[in-house]
Amino acid sequence: MDSFGRTVTYLRVSVTDRCDLRCVYCMAEHMTFLPKAQVLTLEELDRISSAFVGLGVKKLRITGGEPLVRKGVMGLFSSLGRHLQSGALEEITLTTNGTRLAEFAGQLADAGVKRINVSLDTLKPELFRTLTRGGDLAKVLAGIEVAQAAGLKIKINAVALAHDNAAELPELIRWAHGIGADMTLIETMPMGEVEADRTDQYLSLTRLRSELESFWTLTDLPLTTGGPARYVEVAETGGRLGFITPLSHNFCEACNRVRLTCTGTLHTCLGRDDAADLRAVIRAGADDAELMEAIRNAVDAKPKGHDFHIGRELAPAVARHMSTTGG
Ligand code: SAM
Ligand code: SF4
Repeated sequence: MDSFGRTVTYLRVSVTDRCDLRCVYCMAEHMTFLPKAQVLTLEELDRISSAFVGLGVKKLRITGGEPLVRKGVMGLFSSLGRHLQSGALEEITLTTNGTRLAEFAGQLADAGVKRINVSLDTLKPELFRTLTRGGDLAKVLAGIEVAQAAGLKIKINAVALAHDNAAELPELIRWAHGIGADMTLIETMPMGEVEADRTDQYLSLTRLRSELESFWTLTDLPLTTGGPARYVEVAETGGRLGFITPLSHNFCEACNRVRLTCTGTLHTCLGRDDAADLRAVIRAGADDAELMEAIRNAVDAKPKGHDFHIGRELAPAVARHMSTTGG
């Protein structure tokens, strides 16, 4: 529990800063990736994640960069699966761009993963190629099919972009609901220097919601996630739709999550530069009790709220890229 009485039950773990795509809002075209020595080994990732589970974390989400490009990542899933079997952990999930799902969906299901998030902003192959700087939409769609066949429940995440996909979003939502997937829309967040002007692409989801309500019936669903998403049911499609609006609303009072980067830095707030270096702790030879103490101290200092704002002259609220923190 942090000093504001919030219980932290959810850890998001970034397992790599690398990715096979270069989404325009997430990365610069030419990224410099981290030297291997700075990135936690799979054993270190397991050790720190397991310490969180020992302290009461109930849900792990594996993210990145693109988690499925990390060599040996399936070994991490299988090994963390022991906490599901013991009952200490309720859920392990994954956020992926879907390009390698066809290859890995079966192994994910075997490791005990039940639900995954797939990021997909458009169903137009050309626009997909532009937004991801070279990605192949067909691979992602094939991956989604294989994942569903393996029994994984899918949620589609799309970043709402004023110029690029705004007009297509109703169709994307209808498609996602049509394949039995939930859908969540995300506002662009000012994280890390990228070439694209995010002010220009900013689309208020409050406005988008009003537009959707001009032709659909949206019914609010009760809050359950402890996160920034607010969910509605769309009567016409029978599916669930979430809105993640970090810029238009404050969602910090109920925040239940912290984030571990692939270098072992613990961020207790996505929108602030606070950080605790857990890699230094374990590489200095700390035992599990000392590691847990370092985690407790960091969680105790979790900030009350974030510091996002979007404006033309302002530098990003947070200098690190989303691919470092994992979203
Ligand atoms: N590579 C995986 C993927 O794309 O799902 C996992 C990591 S990615 C950083 C996690 C999520 O962050 C994706 O849904 C992506 O669309 C989102 N994201 C990246 N940069 C963002 C930004 N500047 N604002 C809002 N969402 C962003
Ligand atoms: Fe890669 Fe995900 Fe960032 Fe796109 S959003 S560049 S897929 S890490």
